[in-house]
Amino acid sequence: MTPESALTFFGKPSFRPMQRQIIDSVLARRAAIGVLPTGLGKSLCYQLPAILIDGVSIVVSPLIALMKDQVDALLKLDIHAARFDSSLSEKERSDVLCAIENSSLRLVFVAPESLESRAFSDAFSQARPGLFVIDEAHCLSEWGHSFRPDYLALPQYAASRNFHAVLALTATATPRVIDDLARMFAVQKEDIFRLPPSRSNIARSVSAADDKIKTLEDILRHPGKIPAIVYVRSRKDAEEISAKMACSGIKSKSYHAGMPTDARALVQGEFLTGEVPVLIATIAFGMGIDKPDVRSVIHFHPPSSPESYVQESGRAGRDGLSSESLVLIDNSDKIAARNRLHASVPDKESLRMLLSRLSRPGRNIVSVYEMTTSCDITEPVFQRILFDLSSRQLVSIESRGFKYYRVKPLFPLSTILSGRDENEKNILSWLDAHRDSDVEEFALTANLGWKEACDYLQDLVLSGEWQCTLRQAALELRVSPAGISANALADEFADQFAKRFQNDMTRLETIEYFLEEVPCINAAIDSYFGFDSPTCEHCSPCASGHSLGKLPPPDISIIPLEIFEEIRALSLQGKRELERATQMARFLLGLPGPAALRGRLWAHPLYGSLSGHPWSEVLAATQAVNRG
Ligand SMILES: [Zn+2]
Repeated sequence: MTPESALTFFGKPSFRPMQRQIIDSVLARRAAIGVLPTGLGKSLCYQLPAILIDGVSIVVSPLIALMKDQVDALLKLDIHAARFDSSLSEKERSDVLCAIENSSLRLVFVAPESLESRAFSDAFSQARPGLFVIDEAHCLSEWGHSFRPDYLALPQYAASRNFHAVLALTATATPRVIDDLARMFAVQKEDIFRLPPSRSNIARSVSAADDKIKTLEDILRHPGKIPAIVYVRSRKDAEEISAKMACSGIKSKSYHAGMPTDARALVQGEFLTGEVPVLIATIAFGMGIDKPDVRSVIHFHPPSSPESYVQESGRAGRDGLSSESLVLIDNSDKIAARNRLHASVPDKESLRMLLSRLSRPGRNIVSVYEMTTSCDITEPVFQRILFDLSSRQLVSIESRGFKYYRVKPLFPLSTILSGRDENEKNILSWLDAHRDSDVEEFALTANLGWKEACDYLQDLVLSGEWQCTLRQAALELRVSPAGISANALADEFADQFAKRFQNDMTRLETIEYFLEEVPCINAAIDSYFGFDSPTCEHCSPCASGHSLGKLPPPDISIIPLEIFEEIRALSLQGKRELERATQMARFLLGLPGPAALRGRLWAHPLYGSLSGHPWSEVLAATQAVNRG
């Protein structure tokens, strides 16, 4: 079959720009990079060659939801595709592994961490390797806007197996990110294909609104502007704004990462079918969502970087019809955005605590939740550090499992035990007597490895005789016999995170400059991504003949001194989440770290009481409290 005849198989009349070139490269066994804006047919670039190549192609994707949609679409075309992830049942898992082993599967979608699973590796080592595709490849670069440490193992994975070709795909990549990707996967210049991010059917505008809520209501009442996605900064904003819209009779729902998975799926489904025309969401919403007729994307709070602006606004008008991207800004947004960046930097004390807890040589079972909340370090920071330590061979991740279990027999124990051998009788009786406990304790009793113990507990469910829940994701780590010098490493990591912060700050300043000061937003965005485009004539500065102009700094009230007396009193009451100046500053600004979330500090009246004040001012004051 030729690429042209395969195209009809996918029901497409012709190739879109760059698709054919990308496909030709990978068919000729050359590693390639494709940068195509959202909605311009990224998936065909690997789906089509995958059915022409004899072998199993792996597609690495960051989100389970994204994989599900892709697999469903392929199955409808009678293409044998599957996903391999933690949500599969035991039966589904073994079917997928079997289809990989005998190379009958064309495409398998996996999350980066599943590649490491032994079962997957074993099955794939029997298969004929097809393509190795990395979707959302910008996650690989530290210079990208959504760096994911778990992506960093992919280049080595690709190099260590005999794939037909590697293909890295993304919708947004700056020249620097492209350089990173080309180096990681040995991609030649002529195999890098990219299109400028601006899309002529999206009219971009920026507005400095005095009353954002009123402006939003006016827009959303206009039937031509819906379906609409409204991006807001926080979970709280999503809920509050959605409630305000409801008061004005505008049908909308909120969506954020703090909602339970099934509630999120429900809201997403209602938005996709059109039942809910307006979604008020944090940036947790959108990746991999295929809703072609979104007529407007409104940033109620400005985006944090040029990359996120392009990605988020690119969810409008995927059907090619004319659509709108509107950013509402006021001068308080700048302080809020900077405060969030400052609050996301781990402080040195937290780093030192984490590293000293990881420094004991030998084997360790670590609960991710306990570690991150007790050291007050976010999970991405923890993962980043672990990756770094493992690439220096100071720590190795031996296996993944769970910290705790809870079991319940569904039949009388005597029925369950009958016919079992002595050893199993002992194990199951012990479990019956310790129904809610630590997996490691169970492993010791049952004389199993920790990972084996997790598997054993999971398999109990298959017998139909027990209920079992495992909780708190945990890692089995092995620390090198030389140990870790926590203090020196803490300094080094602190420097790394400070650089990262600078990088994020530059991106924030760049997008603010684009929105406020350039003569054409589309040309500025294209130039940021390495394209020299003429002015677009349809963005708001082009249309009005002038840019918005740099916003004046906001008036900031003086911080009432009694607040510091109060927080000092709170800290002295032994609130461990408020021991350090940075923790107090985060609390007063309403930007909690993991420890404050665990301690449910958001319920306190002082929480968030200084939001709107600049980080540096609040921190200077809490430092004084701590000294005093
Ligand atoms: Zn323009």
